[in-house]
Amino acid sequence: MKTTIYSAQKIITMNPNQPEVSHVAVHGGRILGAGTLEELAGWGPYELNERFADKVLLPGLIEGHAHSMEGALWSFTYVGWFDRMDPNGKVWGGLKTVDDAVARLKEAESALEDADQPLLGWGFDPIYMDNVRMTRADLDRVSDTRPVGVMHASGHILNVNTKGLELAGLMKQGNTHPGIPLGDDGFPTGELKSPEIMMPAGKHVGMDRAFLSADQEGLRNYARLCVRSGVTTSSDLGQQLDDDLVEMFSDVTGADDYPVCMVAFRINMGLSPKDLVDYTASLRERSTDRLELGRIKVIADGSIQGFSARMRWPGYYNGAENGLWYIAPDQLAEIFERALAAGVQVHTHTNGDEATQLAIETMEASLRKHPDLDHRFTLQHCQLASPAQFRKMARLGMCVNLFANHHFYWGDEHYSLTVGPERAERMNACRTALAEGIPMTIHSDAPVTPLGPLFTAWAAVNRCTASGRVLGKNERISVAEALYAITLGAAVTMKMDDLVGSIEVGKRADFAVLEDDPTKVAPEALKDIGVWGTVQGGRIFEAATI
Ligand SMILES: [Zn+2]
Repeated sequence: MKTTIYSAQKIITMNPNQPEVSHVAVHGGRILGAGTLEELAGWGPYELNERFADKVLLPGLIEGHAHSMEGALWSFTYVGWFDRMDPNGKVWGGLKTVDDAVARLKEAESALEDADQPLLGWGFDPIYMDNVRMTRADLDRVSDTRPVGVMHASGHILNVNTKGLELAGLMKQGNTHPGIPLGDDGFPTGELKSPEIMMPAGKHVGMDRAFLSADQEGLRNYARLCVRSGVTTSSDLGQQLDDDLVEMFSDVTGADDYPVCMVAFRINMGLSPKDLVDYTASLRERSTDRLELGRIKVIADGSIQGFSARMRWPGYYNGAENGLWYIAPDQLAEIFERALAAGVQVHTHTNGDEATQLAIETMEASLRKHPDLDHRFTLQHCQLASPAQFRKMARLGMCVNLFANHHFYWGDEHYSLTVGPERAERMNACRTALAEGIPMTIHSDAPVTPLGPLFTAWAAVNRCTASGRVLGKNERISVAEALYAITLGAAVTMKMDDLVGSIEVGKRADFAVLEDDPTKVAPEALKDIGVWGTVQGGRIFEAATI
């Protein structure tokens, strides 16, 4: 097996003993060493590869909270507010009105051959359009013979046309379900609002398994988005991971040209705490080089902008009722205790500070029963944690993955509507987390916001909202801290820091290949740095040809 030494304009290592080097030697998919050419030549015969001579290498970027569904969605029509890049690298312009969305769906409709094939759009976000309602009449303009649906960016509302309502058996007067708003004529408006209504209706407008989780093509498309954004390791934070799905993941990620290590978490839903922990522990032995299994994702509450997050006093700024528990406290306790006993890591989604408090208190009680000096249980989102909660998390050995992209996408709404000015300023408190010494990373939660760790780093560094307001300037972090968060920081939260996250001897040869030096460009330009591609396990993937 031969050794290849790569030169680069600069290699940022995340190894504090030699933060920047000029060369890295790769042998058998692993890093043989980083340093000068002379130092690395001491390892014996090598081939010098200078294709990255004008590039900047970073450790392969790590997305600690995303969903491979981001790849699957591109089999459907994007109708969101913001510009968004698809797996082919094409940027789809953001749509600013219902008419624009109808026009794009019409165009997609005209390309369909089978007259009965449903048409499904995704990413629609009326919160930016003064909360205008989309109706079945709007979607009837796309087609009145073919079922048409539009899934909202929040994932909490589905719009369908008249044909879709007919197929779902809902096109009648007298519906009394609160999730089915009615028009003046007594018929449904076409908006469907709760999972038990959306799911049965959704299958008539194309919401199949591929849309909801992943299929082979979706998983491959997800990996292409990873290469385009410099990601070499990505969580898939919450899958059922039944036997079929694990097999599909193994097949797809096992292909020689699959460019990402997927870290697939088992979601807590659908199994008792005992079965959940036993099953997840049993999955560990099915892990491979590019498929990490054996971790649990628990969802404790909902979302802040959907007013379904659990808030402590004084609650929502606009007076909305408190949100929803997605898990009972005794169930959470049983999962934590059994997982600690079995050595299975748990990542818990908490958005509101009441949910965060429950997770912290449950953690403390569970650790008394099952002490573990290195559990690294991680709170995901944890957007509204108070300074006292961060201090407590630090004492308990917890990690955090903060939702930095939220400042940009919903910061203005958080300021004026959901949590109000004071708490909006301290949301996703990266500075506080670091000051308390909590292992921290930041995330996109793709497809909730687009995959792209450099964008997420930009969001944490600048804390800029969509309207241009700087929200929480005292919680900003430096570029160096943000780059650490999207590499080694993320690796620590997934207990993978012995394997990935830095460019140093013994680790997997995973690099993000950038066109520019993120430590030299203006902090405001961090998100605009070009990504040439990646190296994963020593294999080279160029974004332009992926
Ligand atoms: Zn998520």
